[in-house]
Amino acid sequence: MNVMRPLDADAAGRTNLSGLSRDELKEALRGIGVPEAQLRMRAQQLWHWIYNRGVTDFDAMTNVSKDMRAALAGACEIRRPEVTVAQISEDGTRKWLIRLDDGNEVEAVFIPEEDRGTLCVSSQVGCTLTCRFCHTGTQRLVRNLTAAEIVGQVLIARDALGEWPSPADGRLLSNIVLMGMGEPLYNFDNVKAAMKIVMDAEGISLSRRRITLSTSGVVPMMQRCGDEIGVNLAVSLHAVRDEVRSRIMPINNKYPLAELLGACASYPGASNARRITFEYAMLKGVNDSLDDAKELVRLLRDYDIPAKVNLIPFNPWPGTEFECSDWETIRAFSEHVFNAGISAPIRMPRGRDIMAACGQLKSASEKARTADLMRAGAGAAT
Ligand code: SAH
Ligand code: SF4
Repeated sequence: MNVMRPLDADAAGRTNLSGLSRDELKEALRGIGVPEAQLRMRAQQLWHWIYNRGVTDFDAMTNVSKDMRAALAGACEIRRPEVTVAQISEDGTRKWLIRLDDGNEVEAVFIPEEDRGTLCVSSQVGCTLTCRFCHTGTQRLVRNLTAAEIVGQVLIARDALGEWPSPADGRLLSNIVLMGMGEPLYNFDNVKAAMKIVMDAEGISLSRRRITLSTSGVVPMMQRCGDEIGVNLAVSLHAVRDEVRSRIMPINNKYPLAELLGACASYPGASNARRITFEYAMLKGVNDSLDDAKELVRLLRDYDIPAKVNLIPFNPWPGTEFECSDWETIRAFSEHVFNAGISAPIRMPRGRDIMAACGQLKSASEKARTADLMRAGAGAAT
């Protein structure tokens, strides 16, 4: 069954078509009196203009009649969430601070590389989980993003890169990772709806093989992620012993390593050609010993998981209790895993100077609020 949510409208009562599914576009068209027999065709036209051509002005829709364009302009709009700050790092990484219609804020990050460009997308404002090493984890969950707000991040990036219409190949924005703020598997329905729009061959048309969803290990949703969305999976592992993992990632108390790795082993579509990525932030003296590296190899072998490991030098943020492991330690860890036949590259941090690196995202409004609280606290203490 297709459950429709009420369509968003602005102060003037106009429905925002940006980020809507085909069925939702049809509903909007029905709302302005488009005859039933034309709905499919008209929705298809809109779809093409919005997601293939990136237009935001109905007048640009040359194959839509003038009357129809006027009716659309009167009742609808095509509007992205507002970009309040756009930053570019020394290394070319871009970060957008995006204000949603209700005033909440999220961040999206674009990381250009030689042969590809990856957009890191947020799925929630804040996060309910409280991983100790993660800046986002210090911000409590405010709410899930809607599908339109998730797609909106992609549209904003494509606007900034000037990448309309969707190029067949050689794209600047070639990959998406759901690795921004929030736990995507706690917002499954909206993430799924958004990815369906992003993957649609007649629109943005990004292949599911170029999309990676990162989870902290929400075991009950992993199978559905593979079956229903079909994207690549990344798992935030960060420790190989339950005692350590539970300490730094409280979700491990609910879904311990054995359950998590079991779910990884049976992830739909995982194969040697499509490996599961294990993210591992290197935390000095916490998870970075050679014994940890050995245990990691043992676990991945025991569970027979087609795996690669991404070693992420810990990215510091104000107030954190952790430090990044020494370079030599990271290299030794990587080498051990690599020598066991498992790829274990060290991910060079990108965009650290603009706080765009993994685990550094947090809305500026929340930062300001924390700063206020700290000032208030300091005042009270003196
Ligand atoms: N909530 C999801 C998606 C966020 S992905 C998840 O946890 O998987 C962001 C990645 O960066 C995760 O692997 C996360 O564990 C990691 N990370 C968080 N804080 C970090 C930090 N300070 N330094 C390095 N990596 C960090
Ligand atoms: Fe949430 Fe992921 Fe950060 Fe953990 S690492 S607090 S799950 S965003």
